[in-house]
Amino acid sequence: MNYGLSEVQYIVIFGGVMSGLGKGIIASSLSHLLANSGKKVSVVKIDPYLNYDAGTMNPYQHGEVFVLDDGSESDLDLGNYERFLDQDLTGDSNITTGKVYKEVIEKERRGDYLGSTVQIIPHITNEIKERIRKVGKSGSDITVIEVGGTVGDIESMPFLEAMRQLHREEGESKVIFGLVTLIPEIGSSMEQKTKPTQHSVSSLRSLGIVPDLIFARSKKPLQNETRRKISLFTDVPESGIISVTDADSIYFIPGMLYRQGILDYISRKLSTGKLVYVDKWNKFTENLANPGESVKIAIVGKYTELSDAYISHREAFTHVTGKNGIAVEIKWVDSDLLKKTTEPLSDVNGILVPGGFGYRGIEGKVIAARYARENGIPFLGICLGFQVAVIEIARDVLGLEKANSAEFDANTPDPVIDLLPEQEGVVSKGATMRLGLKNVILKENSQASRIYGGAKVVQERHRHRYEVNPRYIRSLEDNGVIFSGCDEEGIRMEFLELSDRQNFIASQYHCEFKSRPLSPSRPHESLVMSALAHAKGKEGKLSKKYSTA
Ligand code: GLN
Repeated sequence: MNYGLSEVQYIVIFGGVMSGLGKGIIASSLSHLLANSGKKVSVVKIDPYLNYDAGTMNPYQHGEVFVLDDGSESDLDLGNYERFLDQDLTGDSNITTGKVYKEVIEKERRGDYLGSTVQIIPHITNEIKERIRKVGKSGSDITVIEVGGTVGDIESMPFLEAMRQLHREEGESKVIFGLVTLIPEIGSSMEQKTKPTQHSVSSLRSLGIVPDLIFARSKKPLQNETRRKISLFTDVPESGIISVTDADSIYFIPGMLYRQGILDYISRKLSTGKLVYVDKWNKFTENLANPGESVKIAIVGKYTELSDAYISHREAFTHVTGKNGIAVEIKWVDSDLLKKTTEPLSDVNGILVPGGFGYRGIEGKVIAARYARENGIPFLGICLGFQVAVIEIARDVLGLEKANSAEFDANTPDPVIDLLPEQEGVVSKGATMRLGLKNVILKENSQASRIYGGAKVVQERHRHRYEVNPRYIRSLEDNGVIFSGCDEEGIRMEFLELSDRQNFIASQYHCEFKSRPLSPSRPHESLVMSALAHAKGKEGKLSKKYSTA
């Protein structure tokens, strides 16, 4: 199918100077403003790496792998777009060098280019434009494109060239360019320096791309003098130079851009007519700015030095704060430390054990689950955290001392977590897990169903390979475990609670991925409510009024 010229308009965001300036948040914020001004917005995140997708990448290097409804394992920025747009995306919104080259080589093998020499220009750049136009074709008015990496990177070159061509083909009134850049502030006077911005703009210009918008990142707001200087050297009018300062919450950034008139500027550039923003986040951001009560929750993981590895959990808690006005202080606890002492858990009101892979850190997570169970601390286990809770109970309550997951101990006599037969023998590691949105059937009158407001079926996203071993379900249930959620076939266990308390819960699915500012993940909300009750001294059993139903 050929996706030719269309009515869609494009805003392309590049990064200059260096990475880590919050380009994704700026592009998400802009998308949010446009979507809440009556525009249909679609987004594309370009990742110039050679991996096909983020699924096989280590969270240490790249942060969390974000999972979409369709099972795509994508860059964590897709999570930001979904949260800022309140829209479910598909894997088409994440373009990588790997996807582009794979497709072009497959086309070459099929003979689609018979007779031609296949080259970066035009074959790779055409493939990139085709993919971008395809995303816009789903009925959107504006496609926001974020080009990952920094201007000048070898990997980004074909994408920058494709953007130049897009501008040429679609026309000036259809495509505008924005550059995110750093304004260093030096000396005790914090003088704002514009030279790095000047250099980035000239690199971009040498590639045939002239920016229309500059997002200047600095600690202090841009001084008038700095703004004037940037404008003079870059040719971008002062109204197109947006100051983006560090903020206490990423959810304050749309407001920051809006107050500087970005929508008026864009409406003039793209001749959209007046863009009237309706702020649905009013109460949400107000609660974030002034929360009332507060709880402390431990996230026990192995990538705790890099909080981006668990970004969706952090955001889910922020959504709870925005809804209920309860601040959540996250205490990052390295699970390996718990093998020596549980002291790091002694001052928390709740414990979350998130997902993960591989044996390292597991025993510390088992200790965290045991500590929560024995001391009545509210607990939420997610995916691996769910499996760890099963292992802990099997060891301590069922007396199966060597119980483990077959993922960590292939020879355990009690593989309470194991592969189902259909997964045995799968060797490939790319996209071979149980991925994406699936129905979860909830037991009536269970804590799970109360948490979800009485729902019988909920849809949540998955990313796992191992399951509760069906051979052990009966004895776990005989010993106080209630599997209150399962898959449609009744084979895979999805939600776990305990018969004698209401604040120890775990899910095989990743509820953090569907959490949105105005509709937080229910299990995270439940953990925070339980933690608040715990903080107020009402340990253990919770009355129904604290359930989030
Ligand atoms: N490693 C476990 C599995 O594959 C859990 C995965 C996860 O936590 N995302 O089943």
